[in-house]
Amino acid sequence: MSRFFSDKYAALTPYTPGEQPKDMRYVKLNTNESPFPPCEAVIKAAAESAGLLQLYPDPDCTPLAKAIAKRYGVGYENVIVNNGSDETLNFAFMAFCDKDHPAVFPDITYGFYPVFAMLNGVPYTEIPLKDDFTVDVDAFCGVNKTVFIANPNAPTGVALPLCAIARIAESNPDNVVVIDEAYVDFGADSAVKLTEKYGNLLVVQTFSKSRSMAGARLGYGIGSAGLVADLQTVKYSTNPYNINRMTIAAGLASLENDGFSMANCRMIEENRAFTVRELKKLGFTVLPSLANFIFIRSDRIDGKSLYLRMKEKGVLIRHFDKERICDFNRVSIGSREQMEVFLDTLRTILEETV
Ligand code: PMP
Repeated sequence: MSRFFSDKYAALTPYTPGEQPKDMRYVKLNTNESPFPPCEAVIKAAAESAGLLQLYPDPDCTPLAKAIAKRYGVGYENVIVNNGSDETLNFAFMAFCDKDHPAVFPDITYGFYPVFAMLNGVPYTEIPLKDDFTVDVDAFCGVNKTVFIANPNAPTGVALPLCAIARIAESNPDNVVVIDEAYVDFGADSAVKLTEKYGNLLVVQTFSKSRSMAGARLGYGIGSAGLVADLQTVKYSTNPYNINRMTIAAGLASLENDGFSMANCRMIEENRAFTVRELKKLGFTVLPSLANFIFIRSDRIDGKSLYLRMKEKGVLIRHFDKERICDFNRVSIGSREQMEVFLDTLRTILEETV
């Protein structure tokens, strides 16, 4: 830290992203990326738009925002497009949290929430997940704080039903309830349809996972026109040109080829079911996941050792050094071939462990 760094950030511990090795030696199952490249139309659209890089992009991303609105059956005024869902989430902390509206989220969830809270000087509390790793819905009802819930949750993969989201939104009328649906396309129900009824509900989604565009950085928020206008105020006060031309063009082409991404999601669901079946045969505990990853533990090997031995053998999975979950590892669901390599490597490690 230099002597110039502002005191307000002195206690800030930044988010630790998953490892991104520079070589492709690894079977990479640690950052919940899609194993499938985007479709040809997306690649072509991005390449063609590069010819206009001398011009700033459209800050409103109008055709893209309209396409998202159409895809989800909401109005254009209900959509804000941002640089990944991380940016939408940060804007939500900026717009809807302060000392009178502290943030609240589960104790085990996306590790960026406490970082955004600290970055923005927002007080926050964490509500423990229940023993079965489900979100304690009753504890969020009437909590009177700005709520952040990932649904499905990360890193557990466990999802809440929509009736639970509705209860939380209804019981906190004076606070915004943010539902982070980064992983919703892999089998869970989206709360977008509730945003018409609940003006305090903001749904955050991304092109990173189900649409194979993590490298493009594209996300969006859907909510009442008032919430979206507030987020636009924050966006236009930080970086109106937050999405580059190539990403805007790629996003539009992706929505025009929605069937391609949705078919990939169905393939991930099949690979998830296959992997879970095989892991259960090996005696693993696997939390019920509706995401493109699973959260697993075994009595035969501790979480950290499994992560390290997998890495030695060329398979990257994600381990979290956090008390309640240090016995677990999060494994992204990749192609069938990748999951077979993962399972073969795991079997070898278990044999070596006996
Ligand atoms: N929310 C959750 C729960 C996530 O796991 C992630 C991915 N790290 C994000 C949001 C951020 O995704 P994006 O790439 O859209 O910024």
